[in-house]
Amino acid sequence: MTIMEFQERFATEEACRAYLFACRWPEGFRCRRCGGAEVGVMHRRRRVWQCKGCGSQTSVTAGTVMHGTRQPLRLWFWAAYLVATHHPGISAVQLQRQLGIGCHETAWMMLHKLRRAMVAPEREPLGGEVEVDEFFLGGLEEGLTGGRARGKKTLVGIAIEVRGAGSGRVRLRVLKDASGDSLEALVTTTTVAGAIVHTDAWAGYNGLAKLGYDHRPRSQNAAPRGEHLLPRVHRAVSNLKAWLHGTHRWASPEHLQAYLDEFVFRHNRRRNPHAAFQTLLGLSTHHEPATYRHIIDQAA
Ligand SMILES: [Zn+2]
Repeated sequence: MTIMEFQERFATEEACRAYLFACRWPEGFRCRRCGGAEVGVMHRRRRVWQCKGCGSQTSVTAGTVMHGTRQPLRLWFWAAYLVATHHPGISAVQLQRQLGIGCHETAWMMLHKLRRAMVAPEREPLGGEVEVDEFFLGGLEEGLTGGRARGKKTLVGIAIEVRGAGSGRVRLRVLKDASGDSLEALVTTTTVAGAIVHTDAWAGYNGLAKLGYDHRPRSQNAAPRGEHLLPRVHRAVSNLKAWLHGTHRWASPEHLQAYLDEFVFRHNRRRNPHAAFQTLLGLSTHHEPATYRHIIDQAA
């Protein structure tokens, strides 16, 4: 969705409410109490809908990030759109400026609530063919050089799906160490058993076959000259480092997992900003609601 399309589509509070309604009832409204299919707007400001059969009321913001908010839905929609589509991520100050929010605390709280959706654990495990590796992050803290800087580095595990020549979904985890236990836990918590797992020849990965994976270790010497043994890992790690240093300068080790989760969120939805938008708002549906156009036509 382009910014023009977004602006047209969510031009009014009514349009936002209708969209939430369609996300809530993708097959069309069905009253939970009486089964009635006819519904009317009960209270616009409180976003409450009422069944015409029995009079029971439902809020379309229940269960979403917008529940109980006093801010207009349009503001939330715009904030989620900017967070979902602004590639390196957006700060509270940028959000406040771009949306003309008077109070910085409001912008900060909205951003905080939207970003919380990014740290939700990803449920579907990776499958098919996966590259797995571990690498160090950090050590670039200001005023530190040499050995002390190196002391700040954090070990991170990565698993990334092979999709032809490109990459599918990614997972990133802070690791305690590069032992067999840590690396096996990385694979079992991110990747479905039976998947093909490519790694380097590090002994820490030796137990994967016993855990039911089709483990295919290779030494770096096996890679063609000038190429990386695990090219998707290499690309994702370069992107991650550029993003961390460019957007956040540096993340302290105790907050690193949250930044890794945000990177994973953005990477895994990079071709589907609409899914990112819905997840940020806390909408449970992850596809275009079928009845949305229908409702907008009715409302018009
Ligand atoms: Zn009813």
